[in-house]
Formats: sequence, structure tokens, C-alpha cells
Amino acid sequence: MNAENPAANAGTTGMADDERPDLSNSNVREDLAMTGRCALVHLPTGRTCLLPLRHQGPCEFHRPQEAQDMVPGS
Ligand SMILES: [Zn+2]
Repeated sequence: MNAENPAANAGTTGMADDERPDLSNSNVREDLAMTGRCALVHLPTGRTCLLPLRHQGPCEFHRPQEAQDMVPGS
């Protein structure tokens, strides 16, 4: 029970330990990622990339409704 409180890491200089962009997966839908999709979520619009994982080129964002259709068993 000690990994959920970012405030516990206070006290140092201006070096904020924010999420690193290259490691941030807070905007990836895991249910879609597990189906082999890129699953990146465009947070401002809530749209999700439905292209295959590690696809080439830019993400292609689709509406949440379409994304949901890609999730098996839903
Ligand atoms: Zn993508």
C-alpha cells in the first residue's frame, strides 16, 4: 500500500517527477491494447486509435462507439 500516493514523493527541488511522455500509458485503453491495437486515446476528444499495434504513420482516431465494437465480449 505505498504506490498510490504521489504526494509522498515531495520535498526535492524543481525536478517534478511527472510521467514521462515515452512511458505514459495512461492514455491507452488496455482492453483494446490487449487485442493488438494501438489503442492510444486522444484525450481532448476521447477518440481511440484502432490501428494495429506499432502501426506506421500517425494514429487514426475513432469514436468511442467504434472502439467499443472492437472489444471482444462487450
Ligand atoms: Zn495509433
